[in-house]
Amino acid sequence: MENKVITVTSPLLPSLEDFIPYLKDIWNRKWLTNNGYYHKELEKALCEYLKVPYVSLFTNGTLPLMCALQALRITGEVITTPYSFVATTHSLWWNGIKPVFVDINPVTCNIDPDKIEAAITPKTTAIMPVHVYGKPCDTVRIQEIADKYGLKVIYDAAHAFGVEVNGKSILEAGDMSTLSFHATKVYNTIEGGALICKDEKTKRRIDYLKNFGFADETTIVAPGINGKMDEVRSAYGLLNLKQVDAVIESRHRTAVKYREALRGVEGISFMEDMPGVRHNYSYFPIFIDAEKYGMTRDELYFKMKRQNVLGRRYFYPLISEFSAYRGLESAQPENLPVASKVADSVICLPMYHNLNDSDIQAVLDIIICR
Ligand SMILES: *Cc1c(COP(=O)(O)O)cnc(C)c1O
Repeated sequence: MENKVITVTSPLLPSLEDFIPYLKDIWNRKWLTNNGYYHKELEKALCEYLKVPYVSLFTNGTLPLMCALQALRITGEVITTPYSFVATTHSLWWNGIKPVFVDINPVTCNIDPDKIEAAITPKTTAIMPVHVYGKPCDTVRIQEIADKYGLKVIYDAAHAFGVEVNGKSILEAGDMSTLSFHATKVYNTIEGGALICKDEKTKRRIDYLKNFGFADETTIVAPGINGKMDEVRSAYGLLNLKQVDAVIESRHRTAVKYREALRGVEGISFMEDMPGVRHNYSYFPIFIDAEKYGMTRDELYFKMKRQNVLGRRYFYPLISEFSAYRGLESAQPENLPVASKVADSVICLPMYHNLNDSDIQAVLDIIICR
């Protein structure tokens, strides 16, 4: 027990016993990838679970971002958030698109719709917001702006698996949404991801793009890429999908325990549930006000680390601070005061499906007994 480390996340695995019959079946079929049996089954099952019409599976959560930009022929400049995982902005860079960073809202940590219009130029073709921590963006306001200026909207919904607003999937917002099924996410296929779109024609184009652009044996309709998901991970994904509701319920219980214990702690704040939203509790960020708490974020972060509790400063640094992007005008800290402040105050606490009560208490003790 002495050296037990409490990690920030722990992957959801299907039972090995349940997985073996699927593997035997794959071995028998000898069809390993390229839209195989389990691939089709998982796309169908995800459409149902996520309440969306079309899902295209990918081998990770970055390629759907890159292919969404290709499918919608996005060029020039795209408005996005600096408060995300680097893949969001990297997908723009890989498409030769200039990212334009807009500051975030301090309550939701999502792109601030009030600041989008000022960042639009004649070169702007799209907005790429992120539902950070699975908290829904203001999709209504964002769509109004997009419609007014004729822009496309691609949501990076990597954190938002299963999130619903008033009974409707958050993945319905915008022109397309992307998911990541990386091992660290609420729902995983080890590595994996998906692109969600609204019509069959677009789905077909996405499926060409993720398979080198092949429309048939001899026709290449676009310079596509290899983004395909294989049969082994598709089968694994079918099994994990059966557990995901229980997993979200268990994460919810953890979030409630964290909140109850931290509510009275001076200098610590956290996010509350939003009315009408089915949350997925993918992360539990806390925000430290150093003056009131009596300790800086980094002091608390390293104190936790010394006591074998691994939080994560997620998202710090901001994407706009990385060498590839820091030269951009929109990347300057004066343009991003809220994001800069939030990035300097955040720690994501351990959060996963089988985090037990004594571990939760151990995390809380470090934060409360300062
Ligand atoms: C995880 C993540 C991605 C990338 O997903 P991968 O599956 O790791 O390629 C993209 N955007 C955000 C916000 C993420 O958290």
